[in-house]
Amino acid sequence: MTIDKQALEDALDFDLFAGDFGDSDDVELSNKIVTGRGEYTCFICYGTIVKGEIHRSAVHKFDGELMTYRACNECCKAMVSSVNYDFADDNDDGQEPIDARYALGESMYFGWEYQEIIKALCDGRLVLAESQEAAQ
Ligand SMILES: [Zn+2]
Repeated sequence: MTIDKQALEDALDFDLFAGDFGDSDDVELSNKIVTGRGEYTCFICYGTIVKGEIHRSAVHKFDGELMTYRACNECCKAMVSSVNYDFADDNDDGQEPIDARYALGESMYFGWEYQEIIKALCDGRLVLAESQEAAQ
């Protein structure tokens, strides 16, 4: 599944934030394709980046705070496709593969949130308005 570093270099051209953080306080300190020395979480799909996986690591400074963003191998490949616009050939609907990776991350993220809500309901930290009324 892993492709070599050279093939992923194009992923570096993919704008990670697509204008979301357009303010001048954002400074990109580094942006490179690296080999993982530990386990990380991909910030796009929320998947695990395993040790030894070739992935993108970008360090940014937002409001004086250093943030490292890591994108897994699969997401990097999707970025390469987006950068090179070669997705149009394989995909009838022309959807960018990176959008599918972001969608995956969103479903994982909301899955986690959902689990947190269920946990909070179970141990009584969170009470729904409706059940409050029912209890009275
Ligand atoms: Zn990923």
